Amino acid sequence: MAEILIVEDEPSINELIRRNLSLTGHHCTQVFDGCEAIEILGHRKFDLIILDIMLPGADGYEVFDQAHGIPVIFLTAKSELSDKLRGLTRGADDYITKPFQMLELAARVEIVLRRTKKSEKYFEMDHVKLDFESRRIFVDEKPVDCTPKEYELFETLVRNRNIALSRERLLDLVWGYDFEGGTRTVDVHIQRLRAKLGLDKQITTVYKLGYRLEAPL
Ligand code: CA
Repeated sequence: MAEILIVEDEPSINELIRRNLSLTGHHCTQVFDGCEAIEILGHRKFDLIILDIMLPGADGYEVFDQAHGIPVIFLTAKSELSDKLRGLTRGADDYITKPFQMLELAARVEIVLRRTKKSEKYFEMDHVKLDFESRRIFVDEKPVDCTPKEYELFETLVRNRNIALSRERLLDLVWGYDFEGGTRTVDVHIQRLRAKLGLDKQITTVYKLGYRLEAPL
């Protein structure tokens, strides 16, 4: 169970998020205004903040400045998806564009919580094992010779398993949002990973979008 702060001024969306995350066993606190969010962050600790950008009082970026390391999932309209936001959401943070599916938000919440708990040392699937600490991948117990980008791409797929990631999103997460190369780079690296790891079936192509690692949760 995690303590989650929901900052969203649209009451119906705020309530929908609260209801769904409560169902998965989390304890949610709702605020509807940026100033209110900053106030509560001054005296309470949370495991995760779900943060709308366009808010009355103070906007999502101002609230983010007061989060002091608490992981954040930003909610944003696609039209507001700025480089600023993309730059902010590295590491423990993430964003989701509206309108979104509740299932996707719930999956992202679990991913961020899992990532920040740092309890996950290994990921294992069939004949493949990933060691997060030594940043190595093993196939049938033997270390695989892969480049840093191949490793990061696979780790990103693993951490976001069962979620479809667009090529653009993978570029942002692995190469950085200011990378100048095209999405073809992603395709080339995916092909190499599939071959090196023998995961042709598990790393699936999502038609017209990107890729998804099909794996046990
Ligand atoms: Ca809003």
